[in-house]
Amino acid sequence: MAINTEAYKKIKNITDNKNAILVAVSKTKPMEDIQELYDLGQRDFGENYVQELVDKYEVLPKDIRWHFIGHLQSNKVKYIAPFVHLIHGVDSEKLLAEINKQGAKNNRIIDCLLQVHIAEEETKFGFDEAELKDLTTRIIHSNYTNYPNVSVRGLMGMASFSDDLEKVKTEFQHLNQLFSNANLPSSGFNLLSMGMSGDYEIALNEGSNMIRIGSLLFGERNYPVK
Ligand SMILES: *Cc1c(COP(=O)(O)O)cnc(C)c1O
Repeated sequence: MAINTEAYKKIKNITDNKNAILVAVSKTKPMEDIQELYDLGQRDFGENYVQELVDKYEVLPKDIRWHFIGHLQSNKVKYIAPFVHLIHGVDSEKLLAEINKQGAKNNRIIDCLLQVHIAEEETKFGFDEAELKDLTTRIIHSNYTNYPNVSVRGLMGMASFSDDLEKVKTEFQHLNQLFSNANLPSSGFNLLSMGMSGDYEIALNEGSNMIRIGSLLFGERNYPVK
């Protein structure tokens, strides 16, 4: 097992030029691989599973910024609340409320992204357009006081797994549109997390400023991921 140093340098160069953030998605990959990328200067890493994230957090350098990018169950928020840097996949108000509660317990404000369902597939999590509008409107109307221990920093979405690049592009454009319209200015609402190994170039062209790259950096994963 080894990381792809060449791919890393290439992608890092692209994101640096675009002022975008590269999140290296290390789920299922061993600590040594993460350490190797860390030694090249990478600090943002993404994980999908709570226990795996906690295990890695405990062992690896403390200046890593850990992103939780998977589907998060409310009853597990407490395990990552003390240290998580950004939670990408907030897909229900119940989850947002729990993150707020755990943020308060840990005496911190936890940065989050609202996940929006933009793909055709039924299985992908996220708010639809109406739900997103409803939630963001209520947050604005409460003057950001309804969830004081979370900061909604932007949106996250996943395009359809499709060879139809026009379709992927249209889905990213749609998410960027929702991002522009959401307008939650006082919470530092400025992150748009979209793009993975197969579609990050399209995503960056359509306004992404945060991409989540796994297999291009670490190689294919050995077991299927939800
Ligand atoms: C696994 C995963 C990624 C990385 O996928 P690759 O195709 O390996 O780059 C990005 N985002 C989410 C939400 C993921 O679950």
